[in-house]
Amino acid sequence: MMTNSENKQIKFHMITIENLVPENHFLRKLNRLADFSFIREETKAFYCHNNGRPCIDPVVLVKYLLIGFLYGIESERRLEQEIQVNMAYRWFLGLDLDERVPDHSTLSQNRRRRFRSKELYRTLFLQIVRQCMEKGLVDGKLIVTDSTHVKANASRQSEHVVEVEKAACGYLSKLDEYEQVERTRLENAGKLPHKEPVARRETTPKIISKRVSRTDPEAGFYKRKGKPEGMHYLSHQSLDTANGIIVDVYTTPGNVTDATPYVERIDAIHQTLGFAIESAGADSGYDISLVHQQMQERGIRFYTPINHEKPNYKSSFTRSDFTYESETDTFQCPGGKGLPLKRLQRNEYGVYREYRAEKSNCQICPFKNACLTGSFPSRRLQVNIFEAAVKKNHDAGGSAGHREALRLRQIWCEGSFAAQKARHNLKRLLRRGLEAAEEHCLLSATALNLKRMVNCLE
Ligand code: SF4
Repeated sequence: MMTNSENKQIKFHMITIENLVPENHFLRKLNRLADFSFIREETKAFYCHNNGRPCIDPVVLVKYLLIGFLYGIESERRLEQEIQVNMAYRWFLGLDLDERVPDHSTLSQNRRRRFRSKELYRTLFLQIVRQCMEKGLVDGKLIVTDSTHVKANASRQSEHVVEVEKAACGYLSKLDEYEQVERTRLENAGKLPHKEPVARRETTPKIISKRVSRTDPEAGFYKRKGKPEGMHYLSHQSLDTANGIIVDVYTTPGNVTDATPYVERIDAIHQTLGFAIESAGADSGYDISLVHQQMQERGIRFYTPINHEKPNYKSSFTRSDFTYESETDTFQCPGGKGLPLKRLQRNEYGVYREYRAEKSNCQICPFKNACLTGSFPSRRLQVNIFEAAVKKNHDAGGSAGHREALRLRQIWCEGSFAAQKARHNLKRLLRRGLEAAEEHCLLSATALNLKRMVNCLE
C-alpha cells in the first residue's frame, strides 16, 4: 500500500511557471524595469548566422551570469544546479518547467571564447547605467570614488621576487607637461632666464624588485595597513551619490595607487555617459596636488578629508613667517630681506617654484640659527605650482558641502564594497588575469546597480 508521501509524488498538477513566481519577486520587478535586449545586437558579430547548430540566446547567457552575481553564487556548476530547481531563476531566463537549463560548461565556454576581449561586460555595465540615467537615478552632482582589493586566484606559495625595469608612469609624464608650461610662462614673463629645452637624457633604466605570482602574473602584490597581504586586484569604483548608482568601474593590479587612474576615469565618465560632474569626493589617498589641479581645470570641486598633519619644518621659521609680495613675486623674510624666484625645481612628487635669499644676507643675519637648516648657506622656500588649486579645495574643508561629500563618500563607497563582498562575489576571483578580473568587477557592479534600480523604483 502506498504511503501519503508516495501518493503526493504521483499527483498531477495543472500549473504554469507564471503561477509559481510571486508577483512581487525581485526578478519580476527587475524584468519590468531593465531591458537586456540590446545584448543580441551587441553580440551579433560573435555568431555565425548561416552555419552550425542554433545557439543559446545571448540574452539568456548574460542573464544566467547575472543571476550568479545577483545572488552571490560563485561557482558556475552550482549556478546551473540552482537554476534547475529555482522557479524564479527559470522564469527570469524564460525557461519553462520542463526545459533544459544550459550546461555550466556552455556558459564557461561562451565566456572564455566567444565573449572574451569583446568588451561585452563593459557595454552591459554602461547600458544599465544609461537605463538608470533615463529613469532619473543619476544626477552627476557629486561623484565619489574609492578602490577595494579583490583577492586573486593565486596561492602565497607561488609568489617570488623578480628584478624588473620600473615602468614609465603616466603621472610623471603629466608632470613633465606642467613643468614645461610653467617654465615657458616664467620665461615669457622675464622671471627666469630662457633655457633651451633639453632633450631628456637617456638614463639607465631603473631596476626595482617586485613580488609576482607564478599562477597569476598579472595580479599585483597588495600591502596596506590593516588589509590582507598578498596577490590582489583593485576595483576602482565611482558612484553617483543621488542613489548610489556605480557609474564607473576600472580594475588594476593590487600594487597600483588609488590616485593613478583617477582623473582618467573622471574623463571616461564624462565621455561615455556624457554628463558633467559638478563635484567629486575621495579619501586621503587621492589628495595629490596634481589631482587637485586637474580637477580644477575640469571645473570640478574636489573634496578630500582634512589633513591634520603639520608640515615637518626643520627650522623655527616656517613658511607663514615669510610674506609674499605678488607685484614683485618675492617673499619677504623676518629679517626684512627679499627672497626672489631663482629656479623651477622638479622632483618625483611635483614641480616647485624655488625662492632663495642671498647667501651674503643670511650669513650675517641675527636670525640665522632660527632660519637656516643643515648645511644650506641661505634660506629657500619651495612653492608647489599647483598650490592655488590645492588651497582652494582645502579651504572648503569643514564647510557643510565638504562634510556632506565625505559623509556620502563613506556611505556609498564603503557601503557598496561591503555589500558587493558579502553578496555579489567581489571578495575573490576564481579566474586569472587582468581581463577576467575586470569582467568580474563589472558584473558585480552591474548586479548592485540592478538591485538599486529595483529598490529605487519598485
Ligand atoms: S637667515 Fe636669511 S632668510 Fe632667514 S631671516 Fe635672515 S636674512 Fe632672512
